[in-house]
Amino acid sequence: MPYWLKGYADLGYILGDPEIIATAKKWLDLAFRSQQKDGFFGPTDNRKNKDLWPNMLVLSCLQSLHEATGDERVIPFLSRYFRFEHGLPEADLLPDSWQKLRGGENLESIYWLYNRTRDSFLLDLARRVYSRTADWETDIINPQRDRKWQVSGFYHGVNITMGIRYPAVYYQQTRDRRHLDLVEKNYSLVMNQYGQQPGGMFGADENIRPGYGDPRQGAETCSMVEFMNSHEALLKITGETRYADRCEEIAFNSLPAAMTPDLRALHYLTAPNLISCDCSGEHDFQNDGTLVSFDPWSYRCCQHNAAFGWPYFTEHLWLATADNGLAAALYAPSEITAKVADGTEVSISEETAYPFGDFIDFTVSTPAAVRFPLYLRVPDWAAEASISVDGKKLPDELQPGAYAVISREWRNGDRVRLTFFPKVVVKMWQKMGNSVSVRRGPLWFSLKIGEEWKRYGGTDVWPAYEILPTTPWNYGLVLDPDHPEATIVLAGQRAPAGQPFVPEGAPVVLKARARLLPDWKPEGRMVGRIPPGPLVSAEPETEVTLIPMGCARLRIASFPFISGK
Ligand SMILES: [Zn+2]
Repeated sequence: MPYWLKGYADLGYILGDPEIIATAKKWLDLAFRSQQKDGFFGPTDNRKNKDLWPNMLVLSCLQSLHEATGDERVIPFLSRYFRFEHGLPEADLLPDSWQKLRGGENLESIYWLYNRTRDSFLLDLARRVYSRTADWETDIINPQRDRKWQVSGFYHGVNITMGIRYPAVYYQQTRDRRHLDLVEKNYSLVMNQYGQQPGGMFGADENIRPGYGDPRQGAETCSMVEFMNSHEALLKITGETRYADRCEEIAFNSLPAAMTPDLRALHYLTAPNLISCDCSGEHDFQNDGTLVSFDPWSYRCCQHNAAFGWPYFTEHLWLATADNGLAAALYAPSEITAKVADGTEVSISEETAYPFGDFIDFTVSTPAAVRFPLYLRVPDWAAEASISVDGKKLPDELQPGAYAVISREWRNGDRVRLTFFPKVVVKMWQKMGNSVSVRRGPLWFSLKIGEEWKRYGGTDVWPAYEILPTTPWNYGLVLDPDHPEATIVLAGQRAPAGQPFVPEGAPVVLKARARLLPDWKPEGRMVGRIPPGPLVSAEPETEVTLIPMGCARLRIASFPFISGK
């Protein structure tokens, strides 16, 4: 329930939807009412089991409630609860299991409250909670854990996407740069071994498993929204644009394909290479049973937890800056109203077809002329970008992986346009048999595969589907990685109308050259491991269509490489 509530309530606040807000309030009121004299709240079974993990999720819900409505019960409630936690004997504070691995969530809530009350006991509690949380400073992947991967909670994909940021959360208290560096060290360790694939995720079909790094392995939907949340938190703590890049990469490429376009069903695992979303279990995953069919009924965690992915993403589109300005950190059509400079309330509307369009328009509304800095993120992939204000191009050269800062006196109606000039680029994954993936700006591309939707269960309102391939998928791409533009061309680009993450009517389409690879076959219902390239094929060269991987439920986004030099 708290998993679901976390996304559901925030969705209501963002949309201003009275029905969602009222339903969420019923559950939140129950949480308030359950608080005991000593500050504990929630089911008494959790107390008996010394399990604080469910409470950590409810704390997030209460923080959102306070941010959205200023509900006066929240601050005293949290203060009482953290007094309870502070009174726990050491052995009872995060003794084991998920709560120990995920104690950093609790830590964030403590800082949230401290920032509002400055109660010094909270900093003592924060130190204790961090020291009682599982060790996310040590190399996440190491030979000792490799030997015990089945039992090590450190290899669970979702735990990694959460735990990886905790040293940086604690950095807010220690101000020790080492804590930020540890996050990067562990991110590189995980991605270098299991994340050699497009879409911002790493293969963990429950756990990362030594020897299972192929892009067919898949990431759990929970791990996508949790990784986005970690990148959003790291973005706020450090201000560094790379975290926004990483968050967008998941949001635009991996997450949409985890769900049906009508958002009524999702699946447990989504992989860059996935040729059959069937319910057979004939896949080499750690768990048995159905994991890739789209089913509203059978996945215990993801369908509840996934709900916070888009609302939290939306909440991080805009950030306040330390110099009383505003930063457009993640890009999407939106409108922000905020105080800037000495407290003048301004609004900025953002209009764009991004990530499918190549420019973003901002319009400033202000009651009076006001000077403040406007930060625009220049993504790492944006080698060329330009900004114009009221139609006049700014002379400064923009740095990819940094912010463009426009400090000026803003007047009502001022318009800013940020334009990208994305090129088609090819990433070669040397560690994955020199396989290749195609990128244009924020989007990765995958082979368009014909889909047969086959209902196999569920109800008429909440049906469960298999999606099966109707066209060949075993292509290698013929290209020269240094000059991909010679064989991969932009064949269509238009602003999306309605749900953009669908194969028919994909807003951006590329055409590429390819040859069939008859020896690349399925294993059971699963795509075979990528054959190492460069390969040769006697099959005729043909033109294939590539669509954004977020639009494709069946996909090949990591291709075997056939040299076109
Ligand atoms: Zn899950």
